[in-house]
Amino acid sequence: MECSLQSAANLILQAETIVITAHVHPDGDSLGSMLALYQYLEAKGKNVQMLLDDTLPVLYEFLPGIQKIHRSTEPPIDADLLVILDASDEERIGKIGKLVKAAVLNIDHHISNTKFADYWYIDSAAAATGEVILAMLKLMDAQISPDMAVCLYTAIATDCGFFRYANTSAQTLRYAADLVECGVKPHLISEYVDVRPLSSLLILQKALGTLELYCNGKIAAITISQSLLDDDDSTEGLVNYPRNIVGVEIAILFKFVEAGVCRISFRSKNADVSRLALEFGGGGHIRAAGCTVKGTVEETKRKVIAAAKRQLQELPA
Ligand code: 5GP
Ligand code: MN
Repeated sequence: MECSLQSAANLILQAETIVITAHVHPDGDSLGSMLALYQYLEAKGKNVQMLLDDTLPVLYEFLPGIQKIHRSTEPPIDADLLVILDASDEERIGKIGKLVKAAVLNIDHHISNTKFADYWYIDSAAAATGEVILAMLKLMDAQISPDMAVCLYTAIATDCGFFRYANTSAQTLRYAADLVECGVKPHLISEYVDVRPLSSLLILQKALGTLELYCNGKIAAITISQSLLDDDDSTEGLVNYPRNIVGVEIAILFKFVEAGVCRISFRSKNADVSRLALEFGGGGHIRAAGCTVKGTVEETKRKVIAAAKRQLQELPA
């Protein structure tokens, strides 16, 4: 059932035992949103825990409270409410849906949301789920602590490319200003997010060597094959390099995950890549989307590039 932000807030405030989760392959928005809501509910004395069916990226270790996020463990648990943040379909939360027996509230900002939950609040105009969480905390008259502000600022800033992407609105900037007033130092967050291990730069070096252009330079792809990657290497942000080439409309990153599984990130300047991702079982936003596909990297590339070409043919010249 679709609900208003006030009803979403009421559902949360009425629940005593709450589990918060978010999508696998966690990013700044999913982690920051989870942590801010968790900190508020914990301070209110709720029985609240955070579960996430994935490993946590080293990049976000600076977020206050991140060590309290647990990877799902058996056996299944009962709760009054499972709050799913920043995830647009049921598969995006991995095993958590099966492990937690509770009414499900989904708070999200993805245009591709499948409205799978018992209750949902989806604001596709919000740059980040963090914006929606901040709006809801304001409705709840919550005091935003400096730690909550760091989490929410990171959520919002990372999902709008630090206020550069098309989803950045006047409201996004107002919220960022509010969070700076609550104690956030924007330069420190940028520093945490931008500083990478040397291995990450070496991957970039190799990945750029795989650049391929199609469709008269309107599609650009880079490919991270098995041999390029170590286990915990982050490829976050890599797809922006082909995206930023003059004349490129759709950029695609193909990444080997394991034998027969390939992960794809799409970015575009105008084309709706969420449609492209949906075609392959994923989702996302108009200009940033992704999916995980069964098949070898080479097979997957052929299919996905053919689909991207078809989509470009539909765009006005
Ligand atoms: P990224 O390329 O950074 O992994 O993802 C870009 C956007 O697409 C993010 O907003 C992310 O939530 C969404 N996205 C990425 N992969 C998937 C997926 O497998 N399923 C769905 N539904 N959304 C995805
Ligand atoms: Mn998000």
